Amino acid sequence: MIHDTRVSALNRHSEHPGGDHVLLWVQASVRVRDNHALEYAVQAANRLKLPLVAVFGLTPGYPEANARHYLYLLEGLRNLRAGLEKRGVPLRVALGDPVTEVKKAARAAALVVTDLGYMRVQRQWRDDLAAALKVSLVAVESEAVVPVRVASPKQEYAARTIRPKIHRLWQDYLVPLDTHDLAHRADDWDPGEAVDDPAALAARLPIDQSVGAGHETGGEAAALARLEEFIAHDLAHYHERRNDPTIDGSSRLSAYLHYGHLSPLTVALAALDHPGPGTDALLEELVVRRELSFNFCWYNPDYDRYEGVPDWARKTLEEHEDDPRPAHYTPEQLDRGETEDPYWNAAQRQMVQTGRMHNYMRMYWGKKLLEWSAGPREAHATMLALNNRYEQDGRDANSFVGVSWVLGLHDRPWARHPVFGTVRSMSASGLRRKFDMEAYVKAWVK
Ligand SMILES: Cc1cc2nc3c(=O)[nH]c(=O)nc-3n(C[C@H](O)[C@H](O)[C@H](O)COP(=O)(O)OP(=O)(O)OC[C@H]3O[C@@H](n4cnc5c(N)ncnc54)[C@H](O)[C@@H]3O)c2cc1C
Repeated sequence: MIHDTRVSALNRHSEHPGGDHVLLWVQASVRVRDNHALEYAVQAANRLKLPLVAVFGLTPGYPEANARHYLYLLEGLRNLRAGLEKRGVPLRVALGDPVTEVKKAARAAALVVTDLGYMRVQRQWRDDLAAALKVSLVAVESEAVVPVRVASPKQEYAARTIRPKIHRLWQDYLVPLDTHDLAHRADDWDPGEAVDDPAALAARLPIDQSVGAGHETGGEAAALARLEEFIAHDLAHYHERRNDPTIDGSSRLSAYLHYGHLSPLTVALAALDHPGPGTDALLEELVVRRELSFNFCWYNPDYDRYEGVPDWARKTLEEHEDDPRPAHYTPEQLDRGETEDPYWNAAQRQMVQTGRMHNYMRMYWGKKLLEWSAGPREAHATMLALNNRYEQDGRDANSFVGVSWVLGLHDRPWARHPVFGTVRSMSASGLRRKFDMEAYVKAWVK
């Protein structure tokens, strides 16, 4: 079922009665399974008795994206092309500015359908395309369980304020998405770029090639395989094991979710088949916390800037700006994980080598960077730059929120400490009390 609340008209044009096809612009939801935009487009094509064709605008200029990110993206496009073909929908991968490429592809379209993204560049592309087209452009939200504007009409303070709102609604939205067969097939649609060899294509794109592949493979097939493995082996213990950096107890699905290779609906429905404390804890992260991040990015125009951190937190951090710092490191020392703190070094190296730092260590890693920076503004910039360069799931709503959380976002005041003021601090002794940190260091610092 596709709720009306997922669907929004992005311009005032009507459908073009003489059009040759319906066009699906795939941007945020790069998958076939549980893709509300795709299913909406299939139904629209059948209603209009037209074929459905798809386009993906592949820009080499996506903000902060390097070869690690592009490779993952292209692995997703390889799966997408195969998956859409099975549904009778040919895909064009058009190298260039997405708005220009989609506009070209839409020349003979009766209707253009797309998905929804929460980042500034994604929203700008949709606005620009809506203004450039002379035909109806409809967006169908498929990346959130509860559509962001339905969950709340304003920026929420914390998980405790959005949780009851999401809990009130999520039963309505946690429902399977029906699929329909496409009645009419397109006989001629230029495929654009070949994506069967993602590494070769990534190597010839004019992008930052200085960061190599991470350890995880992108794409819908790998996402569904990892989901199956997680549900079978890890879900039942998720609530007890996810925080321990020495074991792989979390889902490791964040990059698939980030690239739209996997729907949160697919994950939630698979988990709900196995009720228990593991499933409850997963839904808290996957729906409440993840969608709190969408809420922040959607409603706060400063979501990626230091100014987005709440006033109380900036005030207390700035009051402590002149406190002596325990250490200061050069960007190169930080990049290489060569500080005096073995736990921080291990976390940094885990991220650089694999493309994934453990969740608990992301918090500690950020708190230490705050201690070592000249001030909170510098800490914000350093955290974002490193996170978005190396994390396979970087440049996500969760990236911006995670970094700002270190500085107090979605949190409350705690006991006062030097440098932190009343923002929550974390210590190495706390890590040692909870986990076998020697094992963690051994795994990542050779
Ligand atoms: C400094 C800092 C930086 C971060 N950077 C990123 C980032 O770049 N990209 C990213 O996706 N997440 C980021 N996070 C949030 C969190 O660490 C990751 O989502 C999590 O580690 C992903 O691993 P997983 O898929 O195994 O999570 P699981 O524990 O299996 O959780 C399932 C899903 O729930 C969501 N989720 C989990 N934890 C959080 C959380 N704290 N807030 C919001 N959603 C959550 C994710 O989509 C995740 O895939 C950051 C957190 C901090 C403190």
